[in-house]
Amino acid sequence: MIREYRLNRVIVASCSPRTHEGLFQDTLSKSGLNKYLFEMANIRDQCSWVHQNEPVPATEKAKELVRMAVARTGLLEPLVDLPLEVTQKAMVIGGGAAGMTAALNLADQGFETFLIEQSGHLGGQALRLHQTLEEPGVQEYVNRLIDRVLHHPRIRLFLRSRVIETKGSVGQFTSRIEQSPPSLTLPLRGGREVVGVVSVDHGVVIVASGGSEHRPDEYCFGSNPQVQTQLDFQEILFQEPEKIRAAERIVMIQCVGSREEGHPYCSRVCCSTAVANALKVKRLNPKAEVIILYRDIRTYGRKEIYYKQAREAGVRFIRFDSEAKPLVREEQGRLVVTVLDQNLKAPLILRPDFLVLSAAIRPAPEVKILAGTLKLPLDADGFFLEAHIKLRPLDFAAAGMFLCGLGHGPKSLEESLVQAKGAAARAATILSKNEIQVGGKTAVVDEELCVACLTCLRVCPFGVPTINERHFAWMNPAACQGCGNCASACPQGAIQVGHSKDSQYLALLEAC
Ligand SMILES: Cc1cc2nc3c(=O)[nH]c(=O)nc-3n(C[C@H](O)[C@H](O)[C@H](O)COP(=O)(O)OP(=O)(O)OC[C@H]3O[C@@H](n4cnc5c(N)ncnc54)[C@H](O)[C@@H]3O)c2cc1C
Ligand code: SF4
Ligand code: SF4
Ligand code: SF4
Repeated sequence: MIREYRLNRVIVASCSPRTHEGLFQDTLSKSGLNKYLFEMANIRDQCSWVHQNEPVPATEKAKELVRMAVARTGLLEPLVDLPLEVTQKAMVIGGGAAGMTAALNLADQGFETFLIEQSGHLGGQALRLHQTLEEPGVQEYVNRLIDRVLHHPRIRLFLRSRVIETKGSVGQFTSRIEQSPPSLTLPLRGGREVVGVVSVDHGVVIVASGGSEHRPDEYCFGSNPQVQTQLDFQEILFQEPEKIRAAERIVMIQCVGSREEGHPYCSRVCCSTAVANALKVKRLNPKAEVIILYRDIRTYGRKEIYYKQAREAGVRFIRFDSEAKPLVREEQGRLVVTVLDQNLKAPLILRPDFLVLSAAIRPAPEVKILAGTLKLPLDADGFFLEAHIKLRPLDFAAAGMFLCGLGHGPKSLEESLVQAKGAAARAATILSKNEIQVGGKTAVVDEELCVACLTCLRVCPFGVPTINERHFAWMNPAACQGCGNCASACPQGAIQVGHSKDSQYLALLEAC
C-alpha cells in the first residue's frame, strides 16, 4: 500500500510502540520509505486498556490520539542511521558459573571472548554448592565448565583482574583491565601492587559479577560453631557425613537477612536449599529430627514436589511470624531455640545439634565500583537493573551491554545458566554482524546556542556528551540512546533529539 498510494508518512493506531514499532519500521524500510517517517498512536495502552468501561468517551479519546499523531507526523523528518563497524569480540565480567557459561557460549559460536575474573580462580559461588534440588552433581558440572574455559582457544582469561575503564559504544568498546600479582587471591582496590594494565577492544559487554552470601549477625552465628549457613552446612553434609549421622536434631531458620527492613526482597533459593539439605540429612540419618522454621515456603514451580517429599520423609515445618522471630541462646554450651508456633499459639523449645540459617543472597561486594566504571544502574537492593523487565530482560538500557546471574538478583544455578545463555544469544545478535546501524534518534547540539555550561554532561545517564575541539557540547551518535534527558535539561534549548523535536511535540500538544 505504501508503494501503491505513494505514502510519505505512516501512522498506526493500535498498540504500544515498545512492542511493535520496530516491526512497522522494518516494513517501511522494505518499501523504500525512511523508517523514521512512522508514528504510532498508542490506542491500546493509553485508551482501550484504561477506559474499558467507557466505550463512548474512549472512542472520542482514540480519535484525539490519532489527531495528535497526525499533527506530529506532519513534521517528522527522515533520519539517517550511520554504519558502524563491529569489533566481533566480547568481554564477560565475572568468572562464576554464569560468566563462564556466557563466555563458552560465545566462544563456541566463534567469537573471541575476554573473561575477566577478579579473584584468583574460576567458579564463584557454585564452588560451594554440592547439590541443588534437581542437580546432585554440581561440583562435577562446575569443574567441567572450568576445564572447558581454561582450554578454550577463543577464551582469553584474565584472573585477579578488574575492568578499570570502559569507553566507546555498542560495537566498538575499549576497556582497560588491571591485573594483580598471583600472590593475591582476592585483590582489593587501593594500595595494592598492580602487575599491568591491558587494553582490549570488544563489541559487547556481559556483566556476570555475581553475588555473595550474607553473614548473619544474629542467632549466635559466629559465636557458636554449631550455627551454620546453609552453604557451610552443605559442606558438612558432603565432607563430614559422620557428624550428621551422630546428630539427633537439626533446626533450620528461614529468611535470615531477607524479607525484612532494609532487605525486603526474597532470596529465592534458600527455601529450596533448606529442603534439599533436609532431604540429604534424612537420607544420611533417617532418625534425625529435622525442623524448618519458616515464614513462607517458596519452593516454586516443579520444586514443590521436593517440599512434598520432605514432608513425607518426616521433616517438620513450623511457621513463625516476622514480628516474633525465633530466639536463640546458649545454655551450658548447648543451643536452645525458642519459637512461637503460629498453629499452637504457644512457644516451642528446641535443643538442636545444628542450627542452620538460610542466609540471604546479597549483591557482590564493591558492585558500586563496577556500576560506576560501566555507568550502569543498580536497583534499590543493589543488584544490576535490566532495561525492561518484560521487553528487554537481558539487556541494560545502554546498547551492547547485557547481564546475567546473581549480579541481576537472587536466582538458582539453573536459572543463572539459562540467563547466561540468553545474554550470550542477545550479544551474538550484535557480534554476528560486521556492521550495525547507529544514530537516528539521537541528540544534536546547535552550536549557535550552546554556552558550554556542562549541564548535559552532568545529566546524561550514559556519559555520552563531551566538549569538542570548538568548545561546544557534542554527542557521539553511536553512543547516544536518545533518552532526551539532556534536551530537557539544557538551559539554552540548544539540544534537539531526532524524531522528538520540540516543534513535533508542540504540534501534537496543539492538536490536543
Ligand atoms: C548464599 C548462596 C546460596 C545459594 N544456594 C543455592 C542453591 O542452593 N541452589 C542453587 O541452585 N543456587 C544457589 N545459589 C545461586 C548459585 O550459586 C548461582 O546462581 C550460580 O552459582 C551463578 O552465580 P554467578 O555466576 O551469577 O555469580 P558468582 O558465583 O557470584 O560469580 C561471580 C564471579 O564474578 C567475580 N566478580 C565479582 N565482581 C567482579 C568484578 N568487578 N570484576 C571481575 N570479577 C568480578 C566474582 O569473584 C565471582 O567469581 C546460591 C547463591 C548464594 C550466594
Ligand atoms: S526463598 Fe524462602 S527462606 Fe529464602 S528469602 Fe525467600 S521465603 Fe525466605
Ligand atoms: S546543556 Fe546545552 S548549553 Fe549546556 S553544554 Fe550542553 S548543549 Fe551546551
Ligand atoms: S539523549 Fe542526551 S541524555 Fe540521553 S543518551 Fe543521548 S546524550 Fe545522553
